[in-house]
Amino acid sequence: MKSKPPATAAVADFKAQVADWAARIRAKPRQIRIQQMRRKWASCSTSGTVSFSTDVLGQPAAFREYVIVHELLHLKVPNHGKLFKTLLRAYIPNYESIRPKPLPSAVNAYSST
Ligand SMILES: [Zn+2]
Repeated sequence: MKSKPPATAAVADFKAQVADWAARIRAKPRQIRIQQMRRKWASCSTSGTVSFSTDVLGQPAAFREYVIVHELLHLKVPNHGKLFKTLLRAYIPNYESIRPKPLPSAVNAYSST
């Protein structure tokens, strides 16, 4: 019972935030998972499962929001093309200046496979 999972309340809050954003973006994740991920902040699958790293929970609110929106948008746009960036900017106008605190080389390691 002591393998330091994130606090239950923090996970519940985060999932609620994801659900709020999903409604706002009109994305429909089939499942939202929060799990340990070594190299990535988040990923989404073609089946509609969106997974977030437990590490995201310890990041600043602005970055958490960025990761959520980024990943949910992939349910609509599977790449990082022009449309993706336009939508991202519409929801998070300053997204380009949002950076996580400490980081392996993970920012670009989003995967949508
Ligand atoms: Zn991405």
